[in-house]
Amino acid sequence: MKRKGLLIVVSGPSGAGKGTICKDFLELNKDVLISISTTTRKPREGEQEGISYHFTTKDHFESLVRENALLEYVHVFDNYYGTPKDWVLSRLEEGKDVLLEIEIVGAMKVKEKYSDAVLVFVLPPSIKELKNRIVNRGTENLDQIEKRMERALEEIRTIEKYDYFILNDNLAKAVNDLEAIVAAEKSKVSRY
Ligand code: 5GP
Repeated sequence: MKRKGLLIVVSGPSGAGKGTICKDFLELNKDVLISISTTTRKPREGEQEGISYHFTTKDHFESLVRENALLEYVHVFDNYYGTPKDWVLSRLEEGKDVLLEIEIVGAMKVKEKYSDAVLVFVLPPSIKELKNRIVNRGTENLDQIEKRMERALEEIRTIEKYDYFILNDNLAKAVNDLEAIVAAEKSKVSRY
């Protein structure tokens, strides 16, 4: 029987750098597929439909929820975000490794539904640095920055629910750590 792919879930506070780590990781590991989430958030400058996200309306998102088309979804920062269920499960069945870059409530739901998922938490070097990164990104207003900071602190408190953490104080090292985690998980005898 064909071995299923590995489901890798990367979470961490907004601004911890998980997006950059995942991007570099995927460049180096072309056989790992990233799941493109659906969101009701408006695209930021430079974000492209079908690459960053599938951007949609609240009505359409709610119809996806009713149709049970999402592996998990959350309502955060005044928007919906969700993971396409069929796409992810089909790729895993085909033996492809799939990476989800999602926040923590969603990560917990994925683990409940799919216990083989490997959960990785990206930590920023410090809270001060986290705020600097969100501010310097320049995509959120002051109120949104405060909300993201509050949520970041809540998320960091739940780190013990994760299988691994990566301290993002050096991008190359952080990407290396993610590669090492994936390699170790794929080498587990229990997976065969
Ligand atoms: P952003 O607005 O900065 O793109 O994303 C906000 C947060 O939502 C980030 O922590 C991001 O990882 C998370 N996120 C993106 N897509 C999904 C998804 O499909 N499900 C969940 N639960 N979180 C998501």
